[in-house]
Amino acid sequence: MPIRALVFDVEGTLFKSKSLTDAYRNQVLKLVSEKSGLNGEALLKEVRRVISELRREGYDQRPPSTLIAERLGVTREEFYRAIDEVNPGDHVKPDPELVSALKEMKRTFKLAVLTNLSRKGLTGVLRALGLSEDVFDVMLTADDLEALKPHISAFKRVLEALKVNPEEVVMVGDIVASDLAPAKILGMKTVLVSDEPANSPHVDLTVKHVAELKNKISLLQ
Ligand SMILES: [Mg+2]
Repeated sequence: MPIRALVFDVEGTLFKSKSLTDAYRNQVLKLVSEKSGLNGEALLKEVRRVISELRREGYDQRPPSTLIAERLGVTREEFYRAIDEVNPGDHVKPDPELVSALKEMKRTFKLAVLTNLSRKGLTGVLRALGLSEDVFDVMLTADDLEALKPHISAFKRVLEALKVNPEEVVMVGDIVASDLAPAKILGMKTVLVSDEPANSPHVDLTVKHVAELKNKISLLQ
């Protein structure tokens, strides 16, 4: 079946910014500290305990921060209120190569984003990258989703919104367990954005930067 649509994760996929990830993490740590009364080493120990718990459940890479926060007793509303105090524009630089590659791919494919960022967080990131929202036919954020990635329903929602079959879609993400494994289960094709080659049955292709995709999509057809 020909490919008709590409679906992109955002953080770690359309851009990488350690400083933004750190800023988000610090906001969540501050919140967990306020709620739990834990500080310093005790707080970090508790966070590490939750991360190893999630790793045992199959998150071999970084578990989604929404899940870490949830296990630490932070509600979804509290989580997004805290991280949306961060301005992505302070951390993310314009990426003209990404912008031109997506515009080019838009001529052939429907494009979508599927992200656990809030609508506000996504808008800030796209603005910082120099990417117009018009490039995407569908944008699903935490504001739109009842269950966030890696829940399979998030992936079904994007297929419904795009009006395509799973076999006609490529899911592009940086975390196998939360972006690619659920997509693969539904029958979508998968691309990992990573500097390291992946050895996983859930990954069809690995690229270092999303812009490489415009010449490599044909490998997936
Ligand atoms: Mg990501």
